[in-house]
Amino acid sequence: MPQNLLDFDLAGLTAWFGELGEKPFRARQVFHWIHQAGVTDFAQMTDIAKSLREKLQNEAVVRMPAVNFAHVSADGTRKWLFDVGPDSGAAGDGAWRNGIETVFIPEDDRGTLCVSSQVGCALECTFCSTGRQGFNRNLTVAEIVGQLWVAQHGLKREPNRATGETAERPVSNVVMMGMGEPLANFENVVTALGVMLDDHAYGLSRRRVTVSTSGLVPAMDRLAERCPVALAVSLHAPNDALRDRIVPINRKYPLAELMAACRRYLVHAPRDFITFEYVMLAGVNDQPGHARELIALTRDVPCKFNLIPFNPFPDSGYEKPRSEAMRVFREILQDAGHVVTTRKTRGDDIDAACGQLAGRVADRSGRVMKRAHREAA
Ligand code: SAH
Ligand code: SF4
Repeated sequence: MPQNLLDFDLAGLTAWFGELGEKPFRARQVFHWIHQAGVTDFAQMTDIAKSLREKLQNEAVVRMPAVNFAHVSADGTRKWLFDVGPDSGAAGDGAWRNGIETVFIPEDDRGTLCVSSQVGCALECTFCSTGRQGFNRNLTVAEIVGQLWVAQHGLKREPNRATGETAERPVSNVVMMGMGEPLANFENVVTALGVMLDDHAYGLSRRRVTVSTSGLVPAMDRLAERCPVALAVSLHAPNDALRDRIVPINRKYPLAELMAACRRYLVHAPRDFITFEYVMLAGVNDQPGHARELIALTRDVPCKFNLIPFNPFPDSGYEKPRSEAMRVFREILQDAGHVVTTRKTRGDDIDAACGQLAGRVADRSGRVMKRAHREAA
C-alpha cells in the first residue's frame, strides 16, 4: 500500500523521507506543495528532482476522503459530505458506506471551518443527533486534514458571498465542532492540529483553532501540554444532577473536576479564556435559576459564554428555547460581567447547523440498539 502523505505532520513526513534517504528540506518542499499550493500530483512538483518525483509516484499518494456531495446554503454556508469508506469491520459487511460532514461558515472578517473528528460519537449527549447515531470509528489524520484541504483549495477561487472577494486562504479559523468528540481521538487530532498550525502548511495561529470537548478531563490536560489551542467546553448544565442526565460523560468527570481542568488548561494558555458552550433546551436548562447557578459554578474560570439555541432534529424529544427565555438568560450572565455570544443559526436550509451533522454512521457500539430498547421499555 502506498503511504498517504496526508497522514503526516512535518515531523512525520521528514522521518518518512529519512527512511527513503531524502533530506529534511525535501520533505518541507513537498509539504508546501501539498498544503499550500494544493498540489497532489507529484509530477507537478516542479522544483523536486525527477528521481524523487518518480520515487514518490511509486511509494506514496496524497489522498483526501472523497466528496460525496457539497451543498451551498442561501446564506453562503457550505456543507460537504465525505465518504470515509465501507464499514468493513466485524459488525459490517462492507455494503454500508460511512459519511462525515464538514461545514464552512463565511463571515465578513473570517471564514470558519467546522471539522469532524470521528464517524459518529460514543458519548450519547441526549440532545445531539451525532450522539444518537452511535459510533463507528476514529477518523485518520488524513481524513481530518483532508476536510481542511478540500475546503481551502476548493474555495480559493470562489468569491466570498459576504465580501465578494476571492481569498488566497479562505479558511481563517477551524473549530473542531463537527461530528465526534475530538479528545476521544486524541493522537490523530493533535497531529492534525499540528498541520493546521504549521507555517509550512496552513499557518493558523493557536487562537484561531478551537477544540470543543464535552469534558474529557485527562485529555484536556494532555492537550494543554501538547497543543494548547483555544478550548471550548460543552457545559450545557450548571449542576451535576442535570448534567449527568444530558451529558452522560459528566458521571465520570463531574463539574468540580471539569472546572479544575479548565483552570489548569489556562495555565498553559495564559491570557486566554475558556468558551463555555451552552445549548438552550426549552424548559430543561434555560431558566433564570440555571443562569445564576452557572455564574457561581464558573466563578474562578476566565471564560466567555456561547449560548446555542437547540437545533431540532426528528424524535429529539427537545424543543427550541423561546427567544424571551434566551434574552433573560443572556442578560443575567451579562449583568454579572460575562461576555456572551448567541450563536446565530446558519445553514439551516441544508441541515448544517450545530448538532444537525448526522453524516452516515454504521454503529458498532451496540448503543443505538440498546437505546432503542430502553426507549421502547
Ligand atoms: N463533541 C464535541 C464537539 C462536537 S459538538 C462537544 O460536544 O463539544 C459541537 C457543539 O454542538 C457542542 O457544544 C454540542 O453540544 C452542540 N450541539 C450538539 N447537538 C446540538 C443541537 N441539537 N443543537 C445545538 N447544538 C448542539
Ligand atoms: Fe458527542 Fe459532542 Fe454530540 Fe456529545 S455533543 S454526543 S460529545 S458530538
